[in-house]
Amino acid sequence: MFFEITAMTSDSLELLLAKYFGFDSFLDHQKEVIKRIADGENLCVVMPTGAGKSLCYQLPALLNDSYTLVISPLIALMADQVQALQKRNIPAAYINSTVPFAAQLDAVRRAAAGELKLLYVAPERLQTDFFHDFVLRTPPQLLVVDEAHCISEWGHDFRPSYRRIGSFAREAGISRICAFTATATPEVCADIKVQLQPPGMQLVAAGFRRPNLSFKVQSCQGGKDVKLAIIRKLLKTPVAGATIIYAATRQAVDELSALPEIRGYHAGMSNEERTSAQEYFMNHPSPVLAATNAFGMGIDRPDVRRVIHYQLPGSLEAYYQEAGRAGRDGESAECLLLFSYADRYIQNFLIDMNNPPPSLIRSVYRTLRGLFHLAPEKQVLEISSAELQKQVSGSASDGQISAALGILEKSGAIIRHSRQVGSGTLRFTADTVRLRVLHQEEKTQRSRFIHRMIGYFGEKLHSSLAITIDSMAEIAGLSPEQTRRVINALNGDILSWENSFSGRAIELADPEQIEPPIDDRELELRRNYEQSRLDAVVEYASSHDCRQKKLIAYFGEEEDSWHCGSCDNCAEHTPGALLASGISDADIRIVLRAAELFNGRIGAGKMAQILAGSRSAGIVAANWHRHTCFGALRKLKLAKVEQIIRALLDSGDLERVERGGYPCIRLSARGEARLY
Ligand code: ADP
Ligand code: MG
Repeated sequence: MFFEITAMTSDSLELLLAKYFGFDSFLDHQKEVIKRIADGENLCVVMPTGAGKSLCYQLPALLNDSYTLVISPLIALMADQVQALQKRNIPAAYINSTVPFAAQLDAVRRAAAGELKLLYVAPERLQTDFFHDFVLRTPPQLLVVDEAHCISEWGHDFRPSYRRIGSFAREAGISRICAFTATATPEVCADIKVQLQPPGMQLVAAGFRRPNLSFKVQSCQGGKDVKLAIIRKLLKTPVAGATIIYAATRQAVDELSALPEIRGYHAGMSNEERTSAQEYFMNHPSPVLAATNAFGMGIDRPDVRRVIHYQLPGSLEAYYQEAGRAGRDGESAECLLLFSYADRYIQNFLIDMNNPPPSLIRSVYRTLRGLFHLAPEKQVLEISSAELQKQVSGSASDGQISAALGILEKSGAIIRHSRQVGSGTLRFTADTVRLRVLHQEEKTQRSRFIHRMIGYFGEKLHSSLAITIDSMAEIAGLSPEQTRRVINALNGDILSWENSFSGRAIELADPEQIEPPIDDRELELRRNYEQSRLDAVVEYASSHDCRQKKLIAYFGEEEDSWHCGSCDNCAEHTPGALLASGISDADIRIVLRAAELFNGRIGAGKMAQILAGSRSAGIVAANWHRHTCFGALRKLKLAKVEQIIRALLDSGDLERVERGGYPCIRLSARGEARLY
């Protein structure tokens, strides 16, 4: 066994934490989750980004005899986690397309032999014969599904391959399954359970409060110049730590990174540019990075001091996830949303694009059938969505066509093959024997490529060879990026290289089927769902309530009387701010006097109603409308009176007491001093 410790006690968990992870205490909720998993419960854990979810499955994995299989969506994320584990002497490995086959074999051998505690794979891996067979033969003791919201079509990162995890687990007879995610609304959680069907899965949602974050919304009408000016001004006050500015489009990132003090990051940049931006972000003492939502997963910088949203995010899940990257070190940090109503149109546009009308989807399907009809000898159609767009009637955008293809694929009407990135045909045009001698010293990357390719393929290189960049990279011992560059440099000189179709080949599932099996109602539901999520963001931005309270309530963590005390709305409610907003000292004194009079017999809500003179049934029934205080602040709106009471609670002029099990309020010593 890996450990001397067999009986698991609280102390032993702490020992393991210190010994293998180098931490002296658990973060909030970690211990509870770890204990329950180690006790054999199947959990769906919803905790925010940075809450330390990885440890919640890594530590229980150490207690098992056999290995834990972790499904994780991103290759980069996986490599980081595994490296971190290996550094801590925890036997872990990952398998993905960047891992040479020999190393893959070694990883599964070690897992089967019980030498490995954690094995990470991307969900697509489960469909490869090699890995599939391995797991059927040697199922893991525990299956962990990280970023589990990818399972749900309601989740923003839906991945079809995540959909197959459930049936795969059942086939392999795996009964221990835990799911982890930072962003799960009730719909998504329900979906996770339905998909995975783990026996008795319990939901744990916790830790969404982030007292060190202060949320602000700044309304900026007037477009990008206004926003850029605000950002410039903000950046004039430097912070010790990092700043991330999230933008909704690549174009907006480019707009921002045109400012000298900001660098950009988005998926449209080359690998090198992105790596360099990431290094800048990780290593510079106070970097300012503008990025699309492609940035952030797996980014682990604790001292992010500011997260600014340049545009409205598409959902509150996305917002809280991104904003939540601030202040992971527990020190205070600011999350600012720049809100202009026009941003809504960008998001609406994206919703339109992702949800093409059913008539268009049918039209795409008919066009595909027509194309197959014209070329009956073809098994698959190699056509990009841009080309397809030209053939489909109606004024659809390229993006809408891709979305329509995605929907057709999901409905089972078509099959799309995986993307053939970097495949093509290669032929050497110069004399290979001579080249081989010439480059035998492998002094440059080019030489190395030429020498090794000829060594491997020999004469075969004179006929056209179908091959991928990745396999050439492996043969030449270069990175795919380097290989691509070398080939481009040599193309037309000593070799010829032609890229193959780089999209996804399409096949009809049933060529006889005239109409695709799409469900108009379901499509409409989905569209409405996306729309309602956007509405929730707009409502958040326009709200006068505590911002953080709104956010955590969205994730299912709710408590009536709690508020953060540090967001812009809470700050507005301090007595000083109240005075500044036109509430008179006399009004404040009326509230304090009333509190003194009621002396802890009633709660804040009732007191506000009485002072504002509200004749609700409850008030009248209890005869409060005859009380001397009734309507003392009748000139103010009920919400305003509530605000004053809240501000006075915040400032400590009023205090909470419990009376007969109900939360009530009374004048504090400090309030008394203010009154007299
Ligand atoms: P999540 O997956 O919930 O977003 P991670 O598992 O990536 O969070 O952890 C976030 C960070 O917290 C990591 O840097 C991790 O090393 C750190 N961390 C986890 N547990 C602890 C702990 N008990 N004490 C201190 N740091 C921790
Ligand atoms: Mg995580």
